[in-house]
Amino acid sequence: MKDIKREKPLTFSLPRRIKRLEELAYNLWWVWHPEAQRLFREIDDLLWEQTYHNPVAFLRDAERSRLNAVIHDRYFLDKYDQVMREFDRYMNEKDTWFSQTYPELSKELMAYLSFEFGLHESLMVYAGGLGILSGDHLKESSDLGIPLVGVGFVYTYGYFSQRISEDGWQEAHNVPIDFDSLPLIRLLDENDEPVKIAIDLPGRKVYARVYELNIGRVKLFLLHTNLPENAPNDRQLTDRLYISDLELRISQEILLGMGGVKALRALGYEPTAWHMNEGHSAFLSLERALEYVKKGLSFEEATHKIKETNIFTTHTPVPAGNDEFPLWLIDKYFVNVWSDLGLSRDDFINIAKVKQSWGGDAFSMPILALKLSEFRNGVSELHGQVAREMWSFLWPDKKDEEVPISHITNGIHTETWLARRMGILFSRYMGADWSDRLDDPEFWAQIENIPDDEIWRVRRHLKRKLVAYIINRGRQQWKNDGVHPVQTIASGVLLDPYALTIGFARRFATYKRANLILQDYDRLLKIVTDARRPVQFIFAGKAHPADEPGKLMIQEVYRAVKDARFGGRLAFLEDYDMNIARYLVQGVDVWLNTPRRPREASGTSGMKAALNGVLNFSVLDGWWREGYNGHNGWPIGDDVSESADPKEQDKADALSFYETLENEIVPLYYEQRSADNLPADWIARMKENIRTLGGQFSTRRMVKEYMTRLYHPAILNGFEERNGNGKAE
Ligand SMILES: *Cc1c(COP(=O)(O)O)cnc(C)c1O
Repeated sequence: MKDIKREKPLTFSLPRRIKRLEELAYNLWWVWHPEAQRLFREIDDLLWEQTYHNPVAFLRDAERSRLNAVIHDRYFLDKYDQVMREFDRYMNEKDTWFSQTYPELSKELMAYLSFEFGLHESLMVYAGGLGILSGDHLKESSDLGIPLVGVGFVYTYGYFSQRISEDGWQEAHNVPIDFDSLPLIRLLDENDEPVKIAIDLPGRKVYARVYELNIGRVKLFLLHTNLPENAPNDRQLTDRLYISDLELRISQEILLGMGGVKALRALGYEPTAWHMNEGHSAFLSLERALEYVKKGLSFEEATHKIKETNIFTTHTPVPAGNDEFPLWLIDKYFVNVWSDLGLSRDDFINIAKVKQSWGGDAFSMPILALKLSEFRNGVSELHGQVAREMWSFLWPDKKDEEVPISHITNGIHTETWLARRMGILFSRYMGADWSDRLDDPEFWAQIENIPDDEIWRVRRHLKRKLVAYIINRGRQQWKNDGVHPVQTIASGVLLDPYALTIGFARRFATYKRANLILQDYDRLLKIVTDARRPVQFIFAGKAHPADEPGKLMIQEVYRAVKDARFGGRLAFLEDYDMNIARYLVQGVDVWLNTPRRPREASGTSGMKAALNGVLNFSVLDGWWREGYNGHNGWPIGDDVSESADPKEQDKADALSFYETLENEIVPLYYEQRSADNLPADWIARMKENIRTLGGQFSTRRMVKEYMTRLYHPAILNGFEERNGNGKAE
C-alpha cells in the first residue's frame, strides 16, 4: 500500500467507555455477528429500526442520554467487552485457513471485480442475486483469510425503491444515497487530495473518486464519478445500477474494468490474479494488456500473461441475457485502445465478435472474458453444462463436454443468513465452534441433537416474527402513505402466523414464472382457503424498470393478491431487499422457486431458506438439481430434458406443483402431528434438509473451491511470471 490517508466522514462524541463502537460501525464485520448488532439495538431499538440497521447513521443520531445510560449497565458493558474482544481476535487472527493451507502465498493478492455487491440492506449498491453472491464472497474470503480486494461502484441512487400502485403497477423511486451516513472511508493521497483515477472516454477524461469499505479483513474499493471536474453527463455515470442506455453502459464497464485496474494501481496494489464476476468487468484485460504493451511486450505476449492469471465466472445461461455492444460503439470508444495495443480494428473486434440473431456483428463481453481467461466457470453443475454448449463455438475443435468451462456451485455466507436463534441452537447442541466447521459434514450431522420441540419452537417464533414485521409495515404504510385499504390488505396485514406459509421472492424476470401457481386459479383458491388447512403465499421482488413483461407479471400476481376470495392469504411485500429477504428465508415454512429450466443458473435464496429449516419446493434447476435428494424438500417436475414448447412445460410444471402441494406438503404439515402436537415427519424432513444442504451450499465450501481450483493455479502462474521462470519478461 502506498502512503494513503483514511478519513471517516463523521466522528462521533461517544462516552469513552464505549468509544470503540465507532470502529465497529466502520467495519461491516458486525453484519454477520448478531451479538454486535444487538449492542446497537440495546442502546435504542427504535432508532436502530429508523436508521435501517445502519450503525453510522445510528451513532450520528443516538441521544446522549441513551449512550450515557448503557455505560452504567453492567450487563451491556459485559456484552460490549465480549464483542470487542471477538472483533479484535478476528481482525488479528494469524492462523486462518488460508495462512495454514498456503503459507507460501502470504504475499500474494487476488482482485475481485463486480458491478454490484450485496453486503447489507443499508448499503444499496446491489440489485439482486449477483450482488449478494459478490458480497457473500467477500465476507467468506475475510473469514478464510484469503488476501483479496474487491472493486465496484458506489452509486448516487443505488437500485430503485419499489412501490406498487393500487392497480398493481410497479413504480420506481430513486432515492439518493447519503454517503456521509455510510461506512465509506475517504482515501487521501500524500498531498491530502482525494485518491482519484482517470479513464479515457471519447474526447475527454473522466475522473472517479475511490472510497474504501471494510468487510472484516477484506477491503472493497468503490468508484464514483459525481465530481465537479466531470462534465454533467459523466457525473451521472455512477448514478444507478444496470442502466439500459448503451453509451452509459459501455462507459460504466470501461470504468469498472479499466478503471478498476487503475484504482488498485493508484493505491499501490499489485494483484497476482484477477477474478471477473460476470462479464461486466471484462475490459480489465485491455487495461492489463496496455500495461504490458507499454513495457514493450507485443499484444500476443501480453495476452498470454493476462490469460494465465485471469478468472472468469459466467452467470448467464441464455445468449440473449449476455452483455453485448454494437460495433459502432466499439469504434467510438476503443479506437485509441486498439492502436495503442498495436492492433488493427479487425484484430481487435475479432477478439470478442459475436453474430447476433438478426445477422449483424456485436462485441461480446463474456466472449472477451472467456478468451482472455484461462480459468472459467459456471455456477452450478447444470449451468456448467449449459455454458459449455452455449460457448462451444469458441472451441470448434472440441466436443461440447470438453469445452474448458468448469463449474463451482454457488453458496451463501452462512452467518449472514442464519437466524440468530438458530445460531443459538447450533451453539448449544452442535458445539460452540460451529462457525469454524461449516464445511464439515460431521458438524451438520449433529442437527439430530437438537430436540424436536426446541427447533420447532424457534421455527414458530421466526414465523410469528415475520408476520408481526409484515403487519407493522402495513400499518405504517396505511398510516403514512395514504394508500387504498386494499393495498394495505395486499401488503399482508391479514396473514395468519399459524398457517402453512410459502415464500416466493426474487427478481420478477418472466423466466422465473411467479405466475405459475395461478395457472389453475380455482384449484389454487381451494388450496389457499381450506378452512382446516389454510395455505398462505408471500411474494416479493422487483422487475427491472425497463422490463415491461416483468412488470406485467407483478401486476398479474398483485391482482390475485387483491382478490377478496383469497381472504388476505396472499401477500405482496413491496421493495424486496436484503432485510425482507432475511425475514422471509428465516420465517416461512416452504420456499418456492419456479424457473423455466435451465434458466436459473444457480439461485441462492433457496439455500438461505434451507439453512434456516425452510423446506424447498422447486423446479430441479440450478443448485436445487444438485441439492434435492428425495427426502430434503420437494421437486417440481422432474430432472429430464425440457419440453420444446414453453406453454406445455408451464402446464406440466403447474400440475406437478398443485399435486405435490395438495398430496404431500399440506398433509405433512397439518396432519401428522404427534402426541405433543409436533409435526414429527415435517421436522424430520427439515433436519434432513439442514443436514444435507447447510454445508454443501455454504460459501465456506464455495470460496475454498475457488481458492483451490482457480485462484491457486492462477496465483502460481503469476508467481512464476514474476520470478522469471519460463516466459520472457
Ligand atoms: C438472495 C437474494 C436474491 C437472489 O435470489 P434468487 O432466488 O437466487 O434469485 C435476490 N435478492 C435478494 C435481496 C436476496 O437476498
